[in-house]
Amino acid sequence: MEIKLQVQGSVNAACDRCLAEMSLPVSGELKLYVKQAVREEGNDDDYLILAPEDDHIDLSACLYEVYMLNYPIRVVHPEGECDGEMEKMLNEYVYGEENKPIDPRWNDLKKLINN
Ligand SMILES: [Zn+2]
Repeated sequence: MEIKLQVQGSVNAACDRCLAEMSLPVSGELKLYVKQAVREEGNDDDYLILAPEDDHIDLSACLYEVYMLNYPIRVVHPEGECDGEMEKMLNEYVYGEENKPIDPRWNDLKKLINN
């Protein structure tokens, strides 16, 4: 038996930039093969086993797999929708630090890296 799982919905996730909760759309699909057999050690992972004593197919692990395979590496709000207070702090403490002039005593080390 072949099962095609299509998932479409949204999950609550934390924004990687401002840590505020956001609704993240997730969608994907997975094709599964179900085989009637006795469940035993070493069964192939390429198909689900439907044992004689089973009265249902547990798809929870498959749904989780679809979700994880389609979850983006980086989750951020669209530009301008991040938490305003957090953006203010990021600009002040993180991005501001990157633009500060570096102690000139480190310049000799920079020459080593650039060679
Ligand atoms: Zn954000």
